[in-house]
Amino acid sequence: MQTKRRQFLKLMGSGLVCSAGSFNLLSCSPSGKNQEKERNMIFGWTTCLTYQAEDRKLGYDYFSGLLDEMKIHGMTHLIVMMASHGYFSPGNHGLAWPVKNPKLMLQLDKNALNAHEETDFFPRIIEKAHETGIKLFIEIKYLGMIGVKEGYPGIEFLTKQNGDYTHKTAPDTDDYERNAIEAMHICCDSELAHQYMRDKIQDVLERYINLDGIVLEHPSYTGESCYCQSSRSKLLQDTGKDRHEIETEELLKWKGIRIRDTLIDLKKLVKSINPKFKYGFYTGVPATDGNIVGFQDNRGHRTETLAQVGFDFVMPYCEGRNRDKEPEMIEKVIDHLAPLKFYLHTTIRRDMPRHYKLPPKGPQYIKNIIKWGKEYFKKNDRFLGMTFFNEVKIPEENRQAVYDSI
Ligand SMILES: [Zn+2]
Repeated sequence: MQTKRRQFLKLMGSGLVCSAGSFNLLSCSPSGKNQEKERNMIFGWTTCLTYQAEDRKLGYDYFSGLLDEMKIHGMTHLIVMMASHGYFSPGNHGLAWPVKNPKLMLQLDKNALNAHEETDFFPRIIEKAHETGIKLFIEIKYLGMIGVKEGYPGIEFLTKQNGDYTHKTAPDTDDYERNAIEAMHICCDSELAHQYMRDKIQDVLERYINLDGIVLEHPSYTGESCYCQSSRSKLLQDTGKDRHEIETEELLKWKGIRIRDTLIDLKKLVKSINPKFKYGFYTGVPATDGNIVGFQDNRGHRTETLAQVGFDFVMPYCEGRNRDKEPEMIEKVIDHLAPLKFYLHTTIRRDMPRHYKLPPKGPQYIKNIIKWGKEYFKKNDRFLGMTFFNEVKIPEENRQAVYDSI
């Protein structure tokens, strides 16, 4: 506690701790000269109700304690993932709130404490966050889960030319894992997939109407997608061409427009539920082959079209894929994302999930990446701050390295 108290006083001295409510960078309009002077860097955690919680049943006490700790250390923003995927996190699979829409019911994660009306504690966390001066966002993925095929019969998935799913499981994969991975990569050209996403977002936002906003991860295509029926007929309708006869540049442009329009539609939905909700999106990967533009274009994440959506912020992936070259590479991603404002998704896990291998992070990596971030923040006025992931799955020394460095 003494360390925390000292840290708090240090932060007070440096001006990083403000009174409740005064941090509001994610909602500010393009900065004028006066705002520039007062610009403060945001720090926060990205956590989750279930993902990688393993056998722990995280409830009110856990998240309440986290909010207290955040306040002590001057953190002002919290992002909470509202679902887990069993393919990455055995033990939890599904939506971690008490869904009302019957079509979503099969995707409920019954192991999640928050997934039942009697034990839904998240409203109290939102309330406490606001009393504590912390903004609370949720993260929702444009992905399906086991049960999506039954709830939305005929839904389509990202498909390769030979008809396979883009994410294919190995021949020896058991049925559960095969179902989990095959239900995941829904295609945004499929009307049923998009209806599913609208239903999911509406269900969660109407329940937690006092949130500060939502961050979406995906939709995305891959380089070899998409040959599903819906994509082919939309492509034909929009360009007059079939998938096999279109030139690469025209295809990439079309993908960008499809992703843009999908995200605009969801933005309208989000704002119709509560016009105060902020709208963020994960994009920008420092590809280890250095081909950032190619990676983004193949996904349909062209900056030009993303910028037309009107996001409050985007979240590039600073995951340490490039080890000590990560700052250099992430700066290239950030340049590519201009003029979008960004809040940096900063992975600091030591232990990676199954099927998602990244280099492990320790205190030294964390100190270096935050040191870089603080310097770079001064040079780039689109930089809002850094959020650290995954809060429930880091060793104590990594947590302390964050608090010591911000
Ligand atoms: Zn498709």
